Amino acid sequence: MLSKTETPAITPPATAAQMWLAQFQEALAAADRARLKSLFHVESYWRDVLALTWRIATIDGADAVVNELMARAGDSWPSGFLIDQDRTAPRWVMRAGTDAIEAIFKFETPEGRGSGLLRLTPDANEGGKLKAWTLLTALDGIKGHEEQLGRSRQEDKVYSRDFHGPNWLDMRKAAAAYADRDPTVLVVGGGQAGLSAAARLGQLGVDTLIVDREQHIGDNWRHRYHALVLHNQTHVNHLPYMRFPPNWPAYIPKDKIAGWFEAYVDSMELNYWTSTTFEGGAYDEKIGRWSVVLRKDGAAREMHPHHVVMATGLSGAPSILDIPTLDEFVGPVLHSSQYDEADKWKNKNVLVIGSGNSAHDIAQDLHASGAKVTLVQRSSTMVVNVEPSAQLPYALYDEGPPLEDCDLITMSVPLVLARKSHKILTEKAKQIDKELLDGLARKGFKLDFGDDGTGWQFKYLTRGGGYYFNVGCSDLIVQGEVGLLQFADIAGFVAEGARMQSGETLPADLIVLATGYKDQNHLVRELFGDGVADRIGPIWGFGTGEELRNMFTRTAQPGLWFIAGSFAQCRIYSKYLGLQIKACELGLLR
Ligand SMILES: Cc1cc2nc3c(=O)[nH]c(=O)nc-3n(C[C@H](O)[C@H](O)[C@H](O)COP(=O)(O)OP(=O)(O)OC[C@H]3O[C@@H](n4cnc5c(N)ncnc54)[C@H](O)[C@@H]3O)c2cc1C
Repeated sequence: MLSKTETPAITPPATAAQMWLAQFQEALAAADRARLKSLFHVESYWRDVLALTWRIATIDGADAVVNELMARAGDSWPSGFLIDQDRTAPRWVMRAGTDAIEAIFKFETPEGRGSGLLRLTPDANEGGKLKAWTLLTALDGIKGHEEQLGRSRQEDKVYSRDFHGPNWLDMRKAAAAYADRDPTVLVVGGGQAGLSAAARLGQLGVDTLIVDREQHIGDNWRHRYHALVLHNQTHVNHLPYMRFPPNWPAYIPKDKIAGWFEAYVDSMELNYWTSTTFEGGAYDEKIGRWSVVLRKDGAAREMHPHHVVMATGLSGAPSILDIPTLDEFVGPVLHSSQYDEADKWKNKNVLVIGSGNSAHDIAQDLHASGAKVTLVQRSSTMVVNVEPSAQLPYALYDEGPPLEDCDLITMSVPLVLARKSHKILTEKAKQIDKELLDGLARKGFKLDFGDDGTGWQFKYLTRGGGYYFNVGCSDLIVQGEVGLLQFADIAGFVAEGARMQSGETLPADLIVLATGYKDQNHLVRELFGDGVADRIGPIWGFGTGEELRNMFTRTAQPGLWFIAGSFAQCRIYSKYLGLQIKACELGLLR
């Protein structure tokens, strides 16, 4: 590919993009394979998010892209490929180290309206002809069932005029009680994933109930460690439809986000049952419904929703490692999920086994309360300063385009290019954090930078951990305020603590196992049985494919869906999860 400056005749980005779209539509309508192929680079990518295939899928390479497109060609649909004048104008940008024209466009299919994103780069072999490097087509709404936003907001209901009838609050209470009906969709888990999914479904008119075993909305954040503030900046973390106020701090404290969740549930009119545990379910293929058991305040309730959306977080049950001789230790051994009060351990010796985010956060919390803490590292870990290095991937959100456009741009980067771009960002972070990383290495901390140097984002996407965003604990390790040991230096455990290979005993009053959680497939096995767990296979991570496994999309188990991830992922993909469920309800999708 040529760079922007090497392109022989620089056509204005908007003209170039509109010309490409017009040619694309003509070639598609004519089912002209050769012409279609001439529009794409040999190395090019098409990601379709429901619009043309009802799948979330990435197709690599011109031949494969054209094969897939030909299956939809020769008809009058899809059509109306036009630059979207209401969105960020086409422009030159650099993505994954390459200059490209980036253009947001709109189009229609028989069933819906979509938004897309096209990236054009010049082809050096054809005199700089601009060809598609990446193409995204994403469904925005199903015709006749569009979200009722802005000018198309709902008309006042009769309750505002009828002085005898139930008012808004009466109706809200009745809707959330489910006294005489079951919801169409049951969302298990009311963190950001569950809230986003339920908000989208509500907008699409799908009757949805969220259940969460916590006592109050937002407790999933309240119960985390005392000093927690979010790791990403506020402007990246908005939930769907309702932005955080512009005067909020850059990093939201945990109790503030918990309070926002309560306000969000109220404002978005979400039906949410607290103190309600989902105990499992079975699917009846014949009637297309689940039988699920909920336990609310001790009482069981059976429900029969069409769909169950699991929004229970990336982690399943705590992973308690079988550490040889640990049972010799006479003091308490807590999994990180059981750890709460740091004050109890003032002036006591604590070993924290693990070196991911939880291990570091707990070690720092204990240190702040006056405990003598040693972190025991079992495997190499990536460390990145929360500011500015961990914010580098979000630079796009500072570029100026509105949030919806940034989200579309984020979605449009295929996995291969995302890896490339995260390698670049990881190298940058390494340079910025050099002093800290050198200090940690001197202390014997084993560092890594992810598979092929792709950094923390890919660690998160492939295994949900394996890194630490430094909010101070790494500095404490470098200063020797928090001790550091390698697990291999421990010969075994004894009543008073750890016996080192050197023969010395390291005393401990408490051992915390920050050893992570079992994966979600394990949870599915517990809640739905082996048949369902085997059918759907691993959840999250990529396997050999280019999309997260079983996330935000139909699974091999009809009526079972998963949503998880960062605030941004939940905001972006809840929309498509909602559209798929709506399409199932309309009979457009099975
Ligand atoms: C210190 C820290 C900072 C972070 N900062 C950010 C940030 O800035 N931006 C970002 O995007 N992410 C951040 N994260 C990561 C991530 O977003 C969170 O971990 C988030 O909580 C995940 O949301 P979730 O809705 O998927 O799951 P959770 O928040 O874990 O919610 C799952 C819910 O499911 C409920 N549940 C589980 N099983 C059942 C059951 N059987 N029945 C009923 N209810 C059940 C649980 O009670 C829980 O409330 C941060 C994490 C930490 C620890």
